[in-house]
Amino acid sequence: MASIPSTMQALVLDAFGAPLVLKDVPLPAIGTNDVLVKVGACGVGLTVVNLLATPGRVDRYPRIPGHEIAGTVVAVGSGVRTIKVGTRVTNHFYITCGNCRNCRSGRETLCLAPRGNVGQNRDGGYAEYVSLPERNVVAIPDGVSDIDAAVASDAIATPFHACVKEARLRAGDSVLVIGAAGGVGIHMIQMARLCGARVLAADVGAEKLAFIRSIGAADVVIDASTGDLAAQVMAHTGGEGVDAVIDIVAARGTLAASLASLAMGGRLVIIGSHPATIYGEDPSFPVDPIRFLHRGLEIHASRYVTLAEIERTLELVRDGKVNAVVTKTVPLEAVPDLHEEIRRGATVGRVGWVSA
Ligand SMILES: [Zn+2]
Repeated sequence: MASIPSTMQALVLDAFGAPLVLKDVPLPAIGTNDVLVKVGACGVGLTVVNLLATPGRVDRYPRIPGHEIAGTVVAVGSGVRTIKVGTRVTNHFYITCGNCRNCRSGRETLCLAPRGNVGQNRDGGYAEYVSLPERNVVAIPDGVSDIDAAVASDAIATPFHACVKEARLRAGDSVLVIGAAGGVGIHMIQMARLCGARVLAADVGAEKLAFIRSIGAADVVIDASTGDLAAQVMAHTGGEGVDAVIDIVAARGTLAASLASLAMGGRLVIIGSHPATIYGEDPSFPVDPIRFLHRGLEIHASRYVTLAEIERTLELVRDGKVNAVVTKTVPLEAVPDLHEEIRRGATVGRVGWVSA
């Protein structure tokens, strides 16, 4: 094992609205219950872009963002019992208490005493090393690369939760995925197919639609920019609508189209975030309670994943049931350029930084 240096390169945010700057900084402290991870890869996605643009999210500066981390444990705190040096791990994004009734009943994303998120309330994976709570890390199975594991911890695990727990997809169900070409969407259509559903995948622009077709997991590919989305869904489902809609865009327009696309008893799963602070449009959407009641509809919030769901997802990736779709990897210093591409909506699939 190579010795651990005293300083590392990291992308540091010094204030709200400031650019991320590559700096030499001291290695993070390792608390009693923390593990120190040499970062092999870290995903870069819309969550970080939104974090940087939203006042009040980061509690203290300077801060190192990045939360879809994978790497190798190089040191552990004196209280760590379950993770050994040399273990490859990925991580859970939320810092939860582990002791409240929600944490104790497998609903830790609804923790009643949360302590924030990795890369937001403690330093994250836009750095050569990161310190993480023992409770937050999950061992990576052999055969899964660091970048695939990093992507699995969020962009594939999130679809697992959304499809299995919230949309409750079963063989024969139909599902519409809105925003299907993005980092979460491209794995959502694979997961929905794995659940046995007929998958309608919607996005905008010829390039994104071609990308969805290249993955081969969607039964129907819909261009949401050409005419009414709900009308297109009805045309593809014999006028019945779909059993579930998973809306990863979650803008006012897509949410209204989602509700209008549901079959009797249909489930709308809201998973995206389209805040007015960034996009300048209030994402609130009207719900007609009479139609809602008569059609027996459901609206679900899909809020990240449990630790156990990350474990399951890593097994699905290991077994080749779902493939991590990584379209671009860059060195750490180029992460700000990826943020700019994501802001412009120019990326497809997942992107990330990987160590040399
Ligand atoms: Zn809790």
